[in-house]
Amino acid sequence: MTDPLTNPAATPDELAFEGALRPTSLAEFVGQPKVRGQLEVLLQAARLQERTPDHILLAGPPGLGKTTLATIIGAETGRPIRYSSGPAIQHAGDLAAVLSALVPGEVLFVDEIHRMARSAEEMLYLAMEDFRIDIMVGKGAGAASIPLELAPFTLVGATTRSGMLPAPLRDRFGFTAHLEFYEPDDLERVLARSARLLDVEIERAALAELARRSRGTPRIANRLLRRVRDWLLVHAGSSDLDGVRAALELYDVDEAGLDRIDRAVLHAIAHRFRGGPVGLSTLAAAIGEEADTIESVVEPFLVREGLIGRTPRGRVATPAGMRHAGAQHLDATLDGV
Ligand code: ADP
Repeated sequence: MTDPLTNPAATPDELAFEGALRPTSLAEFVGQPKVRGQLEVLLQAARLQERTPDHILLAGPPGLGKTTLATIIGAETGRPIRYSSGPAIQHAGDLAAVLSALVPGEVLFVDEIHRMARSAEEMLYLAMEDFRIDIMVGKGAGAASIPLELAPFTLVGATTRSGMLPAPLRDRFGFTAHLEFYEPDDLERVLARSARLLDVEIERAALAELARRSRGTPRIANRLLRRVRDWLLVHAGSSDLDGVRAALELYDVDEAGLDRIDRAVLHAIAHRFRGGPVGLSTLAAAIGEEADTIESVVEPFLVREGLIGRTPRGRVATPAGMRHAGAQHLDATLDGV
């Protein structure tokens, strides 16, 4: 099981909490200047030409703001938005039901689009290109295909694994935004905004410490802020910075922002596999985690922090990673890092 504190997905009780903190305009959306600038132009051009904006693919690890951006695209264009997800589209019929119910100009958000059923993909290609689908009725010799015109719409797809999208689907998006992990300065701004909205008074130094340990991820920053708020409530009179340190220790987030699973991955590569290289499935089996969680959540972060590297032969710990895991004395295979 993934540690709930750094679990990539929002828990049900958290959805309401996140909803209250979600920025509703591009101007309020902190960080990601490149993506913001690109989206501004794309939306403005559509507005000037009075057409629906191009289909947009948002790619990046969980918690970086993909759903938030989809909501903002709806708000900025003044269009209604409909939410769906790849796992909810298990048959072409599921997709036909969603598409045929769209009103003109609607934004259709499909989260985890890489998990949509293959059988629905072809229908989506036609819908994205020509705003129409062919519905099959009947079976065998009596089967017939009935064309159905759709209202023009903008598809906003989100994926944590853009590499898993078939090329024909990827190519049909007019624009792909790659979301990056946030710098501590930007996370501090996210936290300051959330603290204001939640009515939490907290020192700058404490926010900076939280930002530094939030794995570059706004969802985790907000989650940690909530824990620190509780800690400070219970330990009235403590300094905010002490609160941050104590709460993070309680929830097993270390100095570098690594949680239990990050450390388990790093530790396994460094000690059990003597620095690597080790393949993904072997690593997953060694620590009892799903390969998908490791690949889409843990690895991007550890790579970005310079603690592990990916080589053609597998994952390796870098010298900094070996040090972090207390394994610098072991003979690491560090070629190619
Ligand atoms: P994703 O869809 O990529 O998993 P979300 O859009 O659900 O991520 O973001 C998770 C939470 O983080 C949101 O509730 C939002 O409050 C916050 N958040 C994400 N990106 C930003 C940002 N750029 N500025 C402010 N808050 C953000």
